Amino acid sequence: MHFEHSTLAQRVLFGSGRAAEHVAQEVARHDARNVMCIASDFERTFAETATASIEVKLWHSDVVQHVPIETAQRAREAASDAGIDLIVCIGGGSTTGLAKAVALTTGIPIIAVPTTYAGSEATNVWGLTEGATKTTGADDRVLPTAVIYDAELTLGLPVALSVSSGLNALAHCVDSLWAPRADPINQAMAAEGVRALADGLPRIVENPTGIEGRETALYGAYLSAVAFASAGSGLHHKICHVLGGTFNLPHAETHATVLPYVLAFNGPAAPDAAARLAGALRAGMAGSSIPLPGEDPALEAVDLLNSLRATLNAPTALQDYGFTEADIPEAVKRIVQAAPPSNPAEVTESRMEQLLRSALVGDTPAVRTAGSLIQGAGQ
Ligand code: NAD
Repeated sequence: MHFEHSTLAQRVLFGSGRAAEHVAQEVARHDARNVMCIASDFERTFAETATASIEVKLWHSDVVQHVPIETAQRAREAASDAGIDLIVCIGGGSTTGLAKAVALTTGIPIIAVPTTYAGSEATNVWGLTEGATKTTGADDRVLPTAVIYDAELTLGLPVALSVSSGLNALAHCVDSLWAPRADPINQAMAAEGVRALADGLPRIVENPTGIEGRETALYGAYLSAVAFASAGSGLHHKICHVLGGTFNLPHAETHATVLPYVLAFNGPAAPDAAARLAGALRAGMAGSSIPLPGEDPALEAVDLLNSLRATLNAPTALQDYGFTEADIPEAVKRIVQAAPPSNPAEVTESRMEQLLRSALVGDTPAVRTAGSLIQGAGQ
């Protein structure tokens, strides 16, 4: 074995119903005087619960998905005008993303209280959108010093959004298995993340107000983000980054829709990763409808993922989120430019066009084996 692995320094406090106590504890640890709370208007209720034991100097609710640069500028100015020395962000990945944009230029530390499974709270990756181009980068200043997980804050996350967001987390895990900096440590976290998400998400669908499914999914989401932060962006993330940044597609739904196509594309060229993924999915899923083990790991992994997606009633077609056939050429051009050179399968314009055409309409993902295409089991 030969590898280099970096671990990001962060405290994690996990406990249902304990957000207010944990936020107060972390604010005291920072000895902060002027706290800015970032939460969208919709997230304000959770934010008030989580900040019940601290004094908030400034509330900021101007949150927009993919963090347009103007939104970042307004938040930075508001923080500076109020002399803010700590940010507490409470909400989904968009809210965390805005906090990161402020931290990027000001160095103000962040405590994150996530209420979706996006996982931004556990990465040092920031994203900003200017015009039609989303730029991302890694900077340790944007890594929240502490993450506070309270599954009670997620009980109201609608099932459809829970599923998309949970599959976004699953995509972090899957892409981590073959990403540029994949190593045995982040692959182990990714596999455990897959197991936890494949266990927790069906339980959320079955019982949206049950705490155990929510806790398991949050745990899986954290692992997925740690794995992703360490392994880097693979092809799946590059594709979704283009679709979100250039065509303004919704983040979680886009990840949820594209994932099986990227798995079908890369799986045959990464049989060890596919076998590991299949094992982790099988370990997390339960019930008689799970496909039987197969000889081809890529086909097995795609079938298991499709089976999980069917249980979850996952999103299937990019056309449902505003992507059109006319967008494909521009998307292909940008994806081929951004694709990691280390991707297991060769990325060409024609292959990416085929992948996007299938994802556009929700065709059953086709697995490429020994030069031919084999359909995975339907969804
Ligand atoms: P989001 O933050 O936009 O939230 C989606 C919707 O869910 C919003 O309307 C929000 O108000 C609502 N919501 C949030 N929590 C809720 C709850 N508990 N109950 C009910 N509704 C709730 O979406 P997202 O998918 O969480 O985040 C997407 C953004 O995060 C994108 O901009 C993406 O690029 C970014 N992201 C960044 C990283 C990173 O490492 N930098 C990782 C993942 C995602």
